Amino acid sequence: MKTTLSVIKADIGSVGGHICPSQELLAGVKEFVAQQGRKLVMDTYISHTGDDIAILMTHTRGVGNEDIHRLAWDAFVAGTAIAKQQGLYGAGQDLLKDAFSGNVRGMGPAVAELEIDERPNEPFLFFAADKTDPGAYNLPLYLAFADVMHCPGLVLSPKMSKGFRFVIMDVEHTEGDRVIELNAPEDIYDIAALLRDNQRFVIEGIFSRATGEQAASVSTSRLHNIAGTYTGKDDPVMLVRSQGIFPATGEILGPYSIGHFVAGCMRGSHTAPLMPVSVNSPTSYFDGPPLVSCAAFCVHNAKLTEAADCFAHPFWNHVRDKVSRKILEMREQGFSGAAMLPMSELEYTGVVEKLNSLETRFSVRNEKHAPAAAAD
Ligand code: MG
Repeated sequence: MKTTLSVIKADIGSVGGHICPSQELLAGVKEFVAQQGRKLVMDTYISHTGDDIAILMTHTRGVGNEDIHRLAWDAFVAGTAIAKQQGLYGAGQDLLKDAFSGNVRGMGPAVAELEIDERPNEPFLFFAADKTDPGAYNLPLYLAFADVMHCPGLVLSPKMSKGFRFVIMDVEHTEGDRVIELNAPEDIYDIAALLRDNQRFVIEGIFSRATGEQAASVSTSRLHNIAGTYTGKDDPVMLVRSQGIFPATGEILGPYSIGHFVAGCMRGSHTAPLMPVSVNSPTSYFDGPPLVSCAAFCVHNAKLTEAADCFAHPFWNHVRDKVSRKILEMREQGFSGAAMLPMSELEYTGVVEKLNSLETRFSVRNEKHAPAAAAD
């Protein structure tokens, strides 16, 4: 019997702007899943990161299962009713379609799933990021699965020496899933050449080359590709298995000490460092900083242990101080240059209308009528 891990998340309304969901909203989603999911799922864990609610479910129905996706969708619809009742900001904002159609992919919520043959001990990590997009995981995954400077297991563990296969998606291609498969270590320059472009090329999955087993699954949805306009940042979720033939948990967490710059933050339009935070953390400064939480579990016979909050350890206070310094440095330059995302990312925002309105006020200067140089 295979176990499926499914996490589906959405922003369906939050308190005080983009801070966090209300307690009543969270309780409503939990109650809905507990009642309606009784015969469908083996176990659940519901949490929030910033303004996003994530429903983690274990079951035996495989990935992309209609009943599982419908359960999450219906829970978010029920939650949206509560959010509207309470007048929460952005009630239902990630539910971009009117009716469920078999799978939440392409409908607004983000989804990451793994179907696994459980090992006798099966540790895995559930990441949730807010105020950023799926490319935020590119660098930490590359460093954990392909860089010996960050992952000593690639050198020290014979089980990992065959490397990993990266499945990378071109998320700008909207007419279908455009993917490429590349192998580490021999293709690492090619992998890096793609992953440097976090807005276009996103790691969808990583697989062990020793056994073929899947190590990581990342949500790849870009909301503006679905809605055709800016509706909020994509706020990706991710599942990563650890230990044994996969990197150790600490090797997977290590790269988050960098606080690397990602896309997102205020109005989804800025460059800001990614801050590792505790599970159930709100957002704050400048509608950010972009944040990532990580809950670690073991799963056995599709039953979850309690969650271990990976970024709650005091070590991460030091990292958070560093990230705070980095975002303050970047914010000093406001709208200028690297502080704000390039036009390719802003084309779904109101800045396009502003630039269009200025078009008619431009004129091309005729050199013949240029002001004469002042006489000596
Ligand atoms: Mg969000």
